[in-house]
Order: sequence, then C-alpha cells, then structure tokens
Amino acid sequence: MDIPIIKPYITEKEIQAVKKVLQSGWLAQGKKVAEFEQKVAEFEGVKHAIATTSCTTALHLTLAAMDLKTGYDVLVPSFTFVATANAVEYTGATAVLVDVYKETYCIDTDKLKAFIEKNYCADDKGYINKKTNNILWGIIPVNEFGLCCNIKKVIEIAKKYNLQIVEDSACALGASIDGVHEGAFGNISCLSFHPRKSITTGEGGMILCNDEKMAERIRQLRSHSASISEVQRNSGKGYLLPEYNELGYNYRLTDIQGAIGTVQMEHIDYIIEQRRKWAKRYDELLSKKVEYLTLPYEPKGYYHTYQSYVCMVDMEKLGIKSIEDANIWRNDLMDNLEKSGISTRQGTHAVHTLGYYKNKYGYKDYDLENAYACDKLSIALPLYVTMEQDEQDYVIDKLIEFGRI
Ligand SMILES: *Cc1c(COP(=O)(O)O)cnc(C)c1O
Repeated sequence: MDIPIIKPYITEKEIQAVKKVLQSGWLAQGKKVAEFEQKVAEFEGVKHAIATTSCTTALHLTLAAMDLKTGYDVLVPSFTFVATANAVEYTGATAVLVDVYKETYCIDTDKLKAFIEKNYCADDKGYINKKTNNILWGIIPVNEFGLCCNIKKVIEIAKKYNLQIVEDSACALGASIDGVHEGAFGNISCLSFHPRKSITTGEGGMILCNDEKMAERIRQLRSHSASISEVQRNSGKGYLLPEYNELGYNYRLTDIQGAIGTVQMEHIDYIIEQRRKWAKRYDELLSKKVEYLTLPYEPKGYYHTYQSYVCMVDMEKLGIKSIEDANIWRNDLMDNLEKSGISTRQGTHAVHTLGYYKNKYGYKDYDLENAYACDKLSIALPLYVTMEQDEQDYVIDKLIEFGRI
C-alpha cells in the first residue's frame, strides 16, 4: 500500500481548462481569475474576492492594505502554519503568540482575553504593550484544519479592546457556523489553494471582503499599486502607463490557475462531502478500536471540512508522563506507519518553538503549553476524496497494530 496524506482532486476537466487558456494566448491575470473570484465569493456569501499567489501573500497584502506597520502588535495563535505570523512580521509589526485549545486547535479565547489584560494597558492611543510600548492592533484567528474558531468570542474581544480582525482561513473554504460560511463573519479573511487544502490551483490564495473601498485598495496594491488617473480615464489614451503612487506588490494569480480554480469550484460540494464521509468513518471506527487517539472535535453548529484529520496521542491512556516522552512514542508510531506505506504528518507546528520566533522573542517551549503539546502529540491521518475503503481500513489496522507495542 502507498497511502499519501492527501491527493488533490483533479479531473480531466481541469486539464482541458488549462489547455484552453494556454491556447488562448492570455496567461496572466484576466477573465479566468475574475470568474474564479466570482465563484468563490458566491459560495462563501461575500461581496468581493481578490485572488493572490498564495494565502501567505493574501495575508500580507491585507495587512499592508490596512496600514499595519512597525510599532504595532498582532495576536496570533501559536499552533498554526508559520506563514500566519510571518505575514505580520513582513510589515514590520510584531506577531505576539497566544495559546490554543487542545480540543479544536484554535485560538483559546479565555487565555486571549487574560493575555491582553495582563500585558497591555489602556492609554489614549489604544492598548499599549507594557514591555515594548507597541500598540495592540489586532488579532489573526486561524480557522484551523477546516474548523472555524470561536469567532463570536474573538469578535467580542476585538470590540472590547478596539482591535482589527483578519481571519486566516487557509484551510477553511466551506467551513461554517450555524450555516454561515467562514468568509461571512464580518471580517476580512484569507484562503489558500495549496494542494494540501480543499481545492487547489497549485499555489494560490484569495482575500474575502465585504467593504468595496477596501477591496478596491487591495486590488490596486496587488498589482503594483497601479492606478489609472482621471485624465487617462477620460482621454482614452490607452497607451499611457498608469500611475504608481504607493509601494505595491505583484501578487497576481495567473489565468492558468484561475481556470483550474474555476473548475475546482464546481467540485467543492463533492470534495467537502467526501472528506466529511471519510472523516466520519474514521470517527466511528477509531473511537471503537484505537483508544490512544483523541479524535478531532466538531462543536455543535460547526461544520468541519476536515482539510486535515488531526488526532492527538493521549498521554494519559498511554500512561506516559511527559509531553517529550509521548512525542517519542508518537514519532515511533509515525515512523512505523511510514514504513508500512502510510504517510502521516504532525498537525502543524507551534510557531513559538521555531527558530526565528524563539530567537527573536525568547519564547520557552512551555510558555504556550497547549500549542507545544499539539506540536508534539498531534498526528494527521491520510484523507482524500478518492480514498478507498480498504485503504482506510488498512490505516486503521496499522494504527491498532502499532498501538499495541
Ligand atoms: C497553508 C496555510 C497557510 C499558507 O498558505 P499558502 O497558500 O501555502 O501560502 C497559512 N496559514 C495556514 C493556517 C495554513 O494552513
């Protein structure tokens, strides 16, 4: 058996769509990107969608458009892909890491509030970091592995302290709470189309936004900050170059990718349904047969898209005392699975344990204990649309077998 962690779901239709674009002669951002944006906006229930080269650039572009800069703090959950925090640091602002819940892997809103109360004090500019004098700017909650964070609580906290919110929804296209999709919670949010996510364009990202002015500003910054002046607009002199009055970027998606994305959006309901089907089958069988794993949690009213099926090794059930020893046990398990042709990964990493953040800000592993535990104990199991029942059964059998050692 050779069971990968994920297989992107690509059909003949995507291949034909790419061929058409290549034959058309228009390869850079154009009609196909616009069509893709329109489809995602409709699906998520938002007014504007702006495609970018990745979720990382989507986050950076959003923060740049919101004028984030040096002297500001942004609160980011530590258990997330490093890009969430990096996007903050690109602007010169400081990513301040906070802890997560072990059950949902999302930002711990009780600790978030306590953290602000403890480390910031109010003055006329806002909430000031007692150590660095930075001004608290906002929060980037992450809708992790296809599950929305407790966004209601995050919004409540943001209102109380007058903070901005940008949602990292890299993994969460189609995720919802009480039927409201992740893009429609009233904040700007950013998606990823990397092959590990629900739908893919190879690389790619998108910003979802309801504010027309902000959408326009993001579009302009995405394209070198090019603007057509009123004179040009009215004189019809198409040969003149636009104006460039701000430091812009080139974060544009290609029409080749736009064509893939447009077809991928035709499959989105099927992709999520299939992922949920396999996830629920894991739930059912693992809960009966594999005691040492804590399975992903889907709170009531939440719709999980299972971008990853992430479990935790249960230290207590294994009778292991320390996170470090349990980490050795988990890595042995992953090693054995790998040797049996089953690919697994840890869920994601704890950003505060990574070199750049550790060295720059002096974090200790246990400063954010849940994020640290998630880093050391999580295991994502293979899950993809075209998974076969015997493949999933094989994964489960091996989990039972190696769990006995
Ligand atoms: C994948 C991922 C990103 C980065 O997305 P790219 O499109 O690869 O840049 C950012 N944040 C989270 C939570 C992710 O899972």
